[in-house]
Amino acid sequence: MAIVQPQPAAEDGRRRIRLDSPVDRHHVGDLEISTKAEVDAAVERARKAQQDWAARPVAERARILRNAVDVLVRRREEIVDQVRAETGKPRVEALAIEIVPACDFVNFWCKRATKDLRDEKRRLHGYLAPMKKLRMRYQPLGVVGVITPWNAPFVLSLNPVVQALLAGNSVVLKPSEVTPRSGELAVKVLHEAGVPEDVVQVVHGDGGTGAALVDGDVDKISFTGSVTTGRSIASACAKKLTPYTLELGGKDAMIVCADADLERAAAGAAYLSMFNTGQVCLSVERIYVVESVAEEFIRLLKEEVTALRFGSEDGDVGPLFFDRQVDVVSRHLEDAKEKGAQVLVGGSPADGEGLFFQPTVVVDANHEMDLMTEETFGPVATVMRVRDEEEAVRMANDCQYGLGGSVFTQDKVKAERIAGRLNTGSVVHNDAAVIYGVPEAPFGGRKNSGVGQVNGLQSLRGFTHPQPILLSRFSSKKESIWYPYNDAT
Ligand code: NAD
Repeated sequence: MAIVQPQPAAEDGRRRIRLDSPVDRHHVGDLEISTKAEVDAAVERARKAQQDWAARPVAERARILRNAVDVLVRRREEIVDQVRAETGKPRVEALAIEIVPACDFVNFWCKRATKDLRDEKRRLHGYLAPMKKLRMRYQPLGVVGVITPWNAPFVLSLNPVVQALLAGNSVVLKPSEVTPRSGELAVKVLHEAGVPEDVVQVVHGDGGTGAALVDGDVDKISFTGSVTTGRSIASACAKKLTPYTLELGGKDAMIVCADADLERAAAGAAYLSMFNTGQVCLSVERIYVVESVAEEFIRLLKEEVTALRFGSEDGDVGPLFFDRQVDVVSRHLEDAKEKGAQVLVGGSPADGEGLFFQPTVVVDANHEMDLMTEETFGPVATVMRVRDEEEAVRMANDCQYGLGGSVFTQDKVKAERIAGRLNTGSVVHNDAAVIYGVPEAPFGGRKNSGVGQVNGLQSLRGFTHPQPILLSRFSSKKESIWYPYNDAT
């Protein structure tokens, strides 16, 4: 269900969105857009329900949420089918990108919650140390609005929602209008696990519904999506000083060093730029190959990509999820060709009804081209030859985004050295993109790629207010520093 066509208001005055399959464009349903009043009512119910939820010990919240793993395992085929109905992604991708990390996240956060969210003593070091004790309490914020995109619609909704709930907040989720039922299913899984209905709710619609949620009586916004929307959310939040995290776009670079295992690098480049049809914030979107190995790398990459079968049922590369993506990818390729790039494989939408796009390899790219500077989000492996690693690092950093990056080399010391010079939120050696599935690793972008982080050991606390409570060890009439000042002070 993923070709989004806003419809005029129906006779009942309600706006709806028409949803068609990206695989063959058959009409699969309509989405009713929540009104502003419905969004406000959901937030109000969430606020009421939050009190009781927060009053439960964190261990109890974790016990309830841990049930979600059983539900995920039991309902996995239904979730996979739902995600595939909306996106057309191959079954293995629905399992690997949505279900497996979802189980890992729930397990991990439930385990961490009892450690990271319980009250803790902190040692004091200054002059007050003999007189005072410091305790830290991690208070829930209240109601968290979570707004999510369409590219991994189940897990990108579930992950922040689970963290916010463990921290004692209630949540109103606004999933993407392109993949609304997958986001909704994440909420249903949590209800089945035992989270009360008003503690986690879903509202539906496009940007207007998201904006209504941001404008509502919420205490934090957790947003994953595009830079444009991120900026607009940041300015709306600024008006009310609502805290937010923004997980935004990327244009990740892969650096192939002269000593890389070229077979691995080429297979990795094919997979990491095409899985989920390239619609991943951490997709490899730029490949910088050191000149001395470029010919061989390109030959191997061409072989890898030519062998890919596109198709949703039994293919490797599924469709793009909605029409806008086909336009963006086509426009970037046209621009690149006009500016001198060569398309070695693919390069066009595939024949047929659906939104399939040929797996594509482009070489001789440069930074004048949108394909190297704007987020493409399509099944395109784009190669630029560079003189040496020095130039590769310079080009990789010459980008408005700073989400992830990768280095292919057989020398781990060199990998770490290059990683340290990349202005990106994360770096992966001889692989890419997998970092989102590592809950221990803080995940977030620099530059236009975002503000704040999800995952990592501080992530749960990002859904709390850390409240220091300074307790006095002794109770005398006055502290020595208090009035009146005298020689002893
Ligand atoms: P988008 O910004 O168009 O939409 C994201 C969500 O925001 C949707 O639910 C949408 O309805 C809502 N929205 C739109 N306008 C809004 C507004 N004014 N106020 C509030 N909400 C609004 O992004 P998208 O096209 O759905 O997602 C693709 C983008 O997401 C890409 O740029 C991708 O890189 C990025 N992304 C980032 C991460 C990450 O973790 N960094 C992960 C996945 C996707």
